[in-house]
Amino acid sequence: MSPGSSAMPETELTKKELEHFAKILAERKERLGEEIRRVLARSENERYADILAGGGDAGDTSVADLLSDVTFAEVARDAAEVRDINAAQARIAAGTYGVCIDCGRPIGKKRLEAYPTAKRCIEDQQRYERLRGGPSQRS
Ligand SMILES: [Zn+2]
Repeated sequence: MSPGSSAMPETELTKKELEHFAKILAERKERLGEEIRRVLARSENERYADILAGGGDAGDTSVADLLSDVTFAEVARDAAEVRDINAAQARIAAGTYGVCIDCGRPIGKKRLEAYPTAKRCIEDQQRYERLRGGPSQRS
C-alpha cells in the first residue's frame, strides 16, 4: 500500500466507487452462476456447473466435449463473462481496475457503469476489435 510514486497505472476511482463496482460484479457473477447451474441441471451436466460458474475455462475441451453443442453454446457465453468478472475482481484487488490495459489511461466511469468488466478505454477497445475483426464486424 505505498503511494503511487511508480509508473504503474493506478485506478483513479475512489474507494467508494470501487466498492460500488465490486458489488455490481459480485451480483452479476452470482446471477451468471445461477443461470449456468439452471442450464446444466436441465441437461444433466450439473456436475460441471461449479467449474463453469467459478470461471473455469469453458474453452477447455474436456468440459466442452462432454456438453452437447447447444448446452455448451448457452453456458460458454456465461462462463466467458464469469471469467471477465474474475479478471475485473483481480484488477480491483490489484488497484488497476478502471485503467486501460493498453494505454494506461482511465477508462471512465460512464463506460464502467455500462461495462463493469471493461479493461480498455473505448478508443483502444474499438481498435482492438477492428484488428481482430471483432464483434462489431459482420460478414
Ligand atoms: Zn486505452
